[in-house]
Amino acid sequence: MQQNSYQKRFWLILFLFSLAFLLIRIAFLHQKLNSIFFFLFIPVNILILLYFLKFYSHRASLIRSQIERTEEETNVAGVEVKKASDYSSGLKFKIIRYDNLEKIIENLNRSLKLDTVIRVLSSAVYSLISNSSGTALLYLVDHQHQKLNLVHSIKDDSDLVILSKEGDIFDHWVLRHSSQLIIEDLKNDFRFDLDSARSGQTRPVFSLISSPLISHNSLLGVLRLESKQSGSFNQDDLRFLSLVSDLGAVALENSLLFQKTQDLAIHDDLTGLFTKHYFLGKLKDEAKRCMRLDQQLSLMMIDIDFFKQYNDKFGHTAGDIVLKKVGSLLKNSLGDYNSLLCRFGGEEFLVMLSGLGKQKAKEIAENLRKRVQVESIILRRQDTHVTVSIGVANMPIDTKDEDELVQKADKAMYDAKGQGRNKVCLI
Ligand code: GH3
Ligand code: MG
Ligand code: MG
Repeated sequence: MQQNSYQKRFWLILFLFSLAFLLIRIAFLHQKLNSIFFFLFIPVNILILLYFLKFYSHRASLIRSQIERTEEETNVAGVEVKKASDYSSGLKFKIIRYDNLEKIIENLNRSLKLDTVIRVLSSAVYSLISNSSGTALLYLVDHQHQKLNLVHSIKDDSDLVILSKEGDIFDHWVLRHSSQLIIEDLKNDFRFDLDSARSGQTRPVFSLISSPLISHNSLLGVLRLESKQSGSFNQDDLRFLSLVSDLGAVALENSLLFQKTQDLAIHDDLTGLFTKHYFLGKLKDEAKRCMRLDQQLSLMMIDIDFFKQYNDKFGHTAGDIVLKKVGSLLKNSLGDYNSLLCRFGGEEFLVMLSGLGKQKAKEIAENLRKRVQVESIILRRQDTHVTVSIGVANMPIDTKDEDELVQKADKAMYDAKGQGRNKVCLI
């Protein structure tokens, strides 16, 4: 359209110039008309020139505005190109993350060990989301004590100390709401009071993302990434953290169940002490180790005296209470030694003391005997007491075979019974 109107104007100017020439020619040919036409010729030409000037100045301004428009369009296109390239690099980043998901799932499923699952989970989000900077924290819920426990942390700063081992207000928020949390800039986040957020922790935190670890509606823990800079995380990061947390929570639940099953298999239901089977396996290993290192190993067989009578007098349930009480008393008394304790059978306990000689073992056994003797067991408002007989045997002094060591400790215990009970005997 614009082009067309320019062409029309061009032909009009050409026509006017031609007309002016024609008039000049006529004026020269007809001398009489000369003065009139010459008089007309100058103003007509000035008018034509003025029109010409106006036309081209208008055209110049049109071209200028067109240039401006083009520049504007170029700028907009530049912004669009930048946006598109940012989007494309973001997309590439996402592809890398989601490509790694398969590897994460594979690694999570490779082991049922709780420790391994915790490490795989923390390091996956730390490297893929935080780019291995800042801090990653993994807490597990202690359902018995209704609190969080920090079980693993990864930090880019080795001097950084994490004081809040039971979590801070952000972790408790995630726990309470069972929901993800993103803080892009802590100074400008009005959900949390900055002072209470900082209380109790010396490490600088300005942005964080956190996700609960939930499997089958059970809240198992909290997985959190934090940074010393504000704006380190966005909604994409939070989505990815949440996805990995969901996958990790299933693996965590499986390993927790596996651990629980393993714990049940090696612990006695009533006393919570190790089982005979587990103990004998450990004794075998420890006996080998002590022989190799030329160390001594002592064994105590402990049996409650007249326990049948106690059961008969106070009932089987009361007897169970006594077994629990004696079990925990032995456990607490042996805490300072390199020892292993198990419920060997009915009312019998076995203690392994690594690296200890026969006399020292006898001393410890004497202490145990005395502590059991003075322990009050209140039953039906009655202050009751039990005593124990203890037999001690040693390796390599008494034998070099671990099975025989158990038999010798048992024999020494029967010697103590023979001597009237509530005694310690060496073989
Ligand atoms: P001694 O001094 O010779 O060791 O006499 P004792 O009565 O302790 O020994 P005995 O072997 O005759 O009896 C052991 C008793 O321990 C018999 C059994 O009822 C009781 N007992 C074994 N296991 C349990 C248990 O789990 N709970 C209770 N309450 N009693 C148990
Ligand atoms: Mg017995
Ligand atoms: Mg007994």
